[in-house]
Amino acid sequence: MSRLLVIGCGGVAQVAIQKCCQNSETFTELCIASRTEAKCIALKEKLEKAGTPVKLSTATVNADSVEELVTLIRAYQPDAVLNVALPYQDLTIMDACLECKVDYIDTANYEPEDTDDPEWRAIYEKRCEEKGFTAYFDYSWQWAYEEKFREAGLTALLGTGFDPGVTSVFTAYAAKHYFDEIDTIDILDCNGGDHGYPFATNFNPEINLREVSANGSYWENGKWVETRPMEIKRVYNFPEVGEKDMYLLHHEEIEALGRNFPGVKRIRFFMTFGQSYLTHMKCLENVGMLSTSPIMFEGREIVPIQFLKALLPDPASLGPRTVGKTNIGCIFTGRKDGKARTIYIYNVCDHQECYKELGSQAISYTTGVPAMIGTSLVVKGIWKKPGVFTTDEFDPDPYMDMLNQYGLPWVVDENPAIVE
Ligand code: NDP
Repeated sequence: MSRLLVIGCGGVAQVAIQKCCQNSETFTELCIASRTEAKCIALKEKLEKAGTPVKLSTATVNADSVEELVTLIRAYQPDAVLNVALPYQDLTIMDACLECKVDYIDTANYEPEDTDDPEWRAIYEKRCEEKGFTAYFDYSWQWAYEEKFREAGLTALLGTGFDPGVTSVFTAYAAKHYFDEIDTIDILDCNGGDHGYPFATNFNPEINLREVSANGSYWENGKWVETRPMEIKRVYNFPEVGEKDMYLLHHEEIEALGRNFPGVKRIRFFMTFGQSYLTHMKCLENVGMLSTSPIMFEGREIVPIQFLKALLPDPASLGPRTVGKTNIGCIFTGRKDGKARTIYIYNVCDHQECYKELGSQAISYTTGVPAMIGTSLVVKGIWKKPGVFTTDEFDPDPYMDMLNQYGLPWVVDENPAIVE
């Protein structure tokens, strides 16, 4: 029996909310709040028409405003807040949760909307020097809330999507059941889906394009090694998808895994991209369309990447036209009982199956299901302890069971090909 407030009603939120309704023993009441309330109302109506027993309501909120959030949380009195808006809102929502004494859950770590803000930039540049990676997002902003959440007796669960999220749970599961020592982790994110557009992104274009156009980096022997964007390429034959080109990217779970599994010598993250996607992205970058710095256009200030977002297909609309499968997982090497061991834990998800079940494509599906699972474990008290945590810091077994139960079954391959 719990009351959940979900903030955001985009591609990921729509899956997470529908999955909460499939888990109505845990989520008895749910409020969908977002900037555009019409989307929340449309989803509520769809779910009510399908006969959900969950008591649904909607609200409009600007999640950039702590004051508005506090008013909404005080009025609705939820047991937890699931943030599936954008990473820009992580800190305001955490502040509001602290003020109202409510647990907090999200799927992506904080990054600022305005990367030209001098106050943020000074801290960012110091961090680049100290830590050695230049991504705009990092955990330091949210880990800084550790003491406040601990003292308030509240749980903040960070990054419970697929990657980060499930990939970190896979790591905790491998460490618990398969290894005495893990030496290397390769996280492989393959989207073998085809939506038929020459160029579109599978989740929020602004967040997605910022991520993939940035420098890559990996963790080796306790330090970051940074690469140019797309500098390291490998080819991998993914189970149920086939051979794909993949590129090394910086990714947020590497930071948490490096901290929480200090014995691991190397952690890398690879994502697959087709040539058409890369060519379009390079061209857009070269003409300045990926810039987050505002420019004046016909007397009005516009942010190029936000203008581009308005031109691109809405990721939530890709569902009906996307065919093919995703395969996301981790390859671990290390030792058990003195013997070398390599395992690959992965999930394969079919875009059309996701569409048939929930009207969404697999990228939103593979993020929204783990968002529901993490939230469910927090509200049931199974993953509840005071402080700020990532998903690798809890017992992975109940999460792994729920992945099987809620549509993301996983496989352990004990003899996989490794990535050179
Ligand atoms: P969308 O752009 O589809 O949806 C974002 C939603 O947040 C929209 O409903 C939007 O409202 C709402 N929103 C944006 N700004 C505000 C605001 N200031 N106040 C209130 N609501 C706001 O994004 P996605 O669903 O694709 O992504 C959601 C989150 O999931 C992101 O943080 C993303 O980084 C993360 N993610 C995590 C992954 C993982 O594996 N861990 C993978 C993919 C995504 P409006 O409708 O008005 O635009």
